[in-house]
Amino acid sequence: MNTPIPFNRPYMTGRELYNIADAHFRGRLAGDGQYTQRCHGLLEEITGTRKALLTQSCTAALEMSALLAGIEPGDEVIIPSFTFVSTANAFVLRGGVPVFADVRPDTLNIDERRIEPLITGRTRAIAVVHYAGVVCDMEPVMALAARHGLTVIEDAAQALLASRNGRQGGTFGRFGTLSFHETKNVIAGEGGALLVNDPADAERAEIVREKGTNRAQFFRGQVDKYTWCDLGSSFLPGELTAAFLSAQLDEARQITQRRLRIWARYHEALAGLERDGRLRRPVLPADTEHNAHMYYVLLEDLDTRTRLIDWLKQDGIQAVFHYVPLDTSPFGQRYARAGVHCPVTADISDRLLRLPLWLGLEPEQDRVIDRVRSFFRH
Ligand SMILES: *Cc1c(COP(=O)(O)O)cnc(C)c1O
Repeated sequence: MNTPIPFNRPYMTGRELYNIADAHFRGRLAGDGQYTQRCHGLLEEITGTRKALLTQSCTAALEMSALLAGIEPGDEVIIPSFTFVSTANAFVLRGGVPVFADVRPDTLNIDERRIEPLITGRTRAIAVVHYAGVVCDMEPVMALAARHGLTVIEDAAQALLASRNGRQGGTFGRFGTLSFHETKNVIAGEGGALLVNDPADAERAEIVREKGTNRAQFFRGQVDKYTWCDLGSSFLPGELTAAFLSAQLDEARQITQRRLRIWARYHEALAGLERDGRLRRPVLPADTEHNAHMYYVLLEDLDTRTRLIDWLKQDGIQAVFHYVPLDTSPFGQRYARAGVHCPVTADISDRLLRLPLWLGLEPEQDRVIDRVRSFFRH
């Protein structure tokens, strides 16, 4: 068998250990030290948000958003069914009720045309997900939210450096959440960030992140002692994580450029199979600049996908499917508002296959492409 090609391989810039050694030498390892401040500055510059706060994960940033948005028991939150569990869990932890919306058949993002019929007197928020680093059509979502007085939260876990109409994903709504999990484009092992887009939320976001205390104000000399002011938890990462992450953020644009070249190679090479009706490639709306987080194809049916996964595996190539729809999951069935159906999600989740995409794949990428092509010649 050929050398294995994993689905993902974390990329290191080479500067991470230097930064960690430096943080170690300085001897200040708790959160919000100089590397955390550095990451905040880099994230504000990269995304254009007013205030970025590092968190231990995107999940933690989503939980902060639910808390800051004041989600209370019984409040409904509209969420795409085709997403990771954290998008929904964050609200359920506050007693919120997920209301699942179907996704668009082209981008696989929440179908903005299906949101309004789901709004009731109990609806408090809309959480969108920028799937595969293709930013949702935010203009109609923001207009709808303004009309109904709803908070918009963007799960931008996959969307660092992805934009729509020149504006980065995660900066349209009241809050945006990023992930630096090792499967994302820019990584810290585990890590995330909350983008606080409304200055009115800045002070409370700092307090919630610091166990409900005004510790950040104390360290800036704005108050002479710090105390318990609000609900909160420990959402901030330590300095070693921030030291690692700052090396990655320094190279975020170069990492994205390299990923875009790998993505484009797949896209070009698989165009013929799309023309022959064998698969469907990702759709990019004209006003989007994606970040090559993922290359997926949609196959004819579940059986074809299972056979292709197996065919690739026989050559040592790991390709994987993605989300199991949340609306039909055991927990979703128990906690979500009943009677909402998501036929597009049910259909595409069975047919979607993600191909390996990581920096360093370049010399082996044609092997993946040839193997996919040979499957359809079989
Ligand atoms: C990766 C991911 C998350 C979770 O991110 P963590 O940093 O692991 O908590 C949440 N939502 C989406 C859409 C993701 O892709």
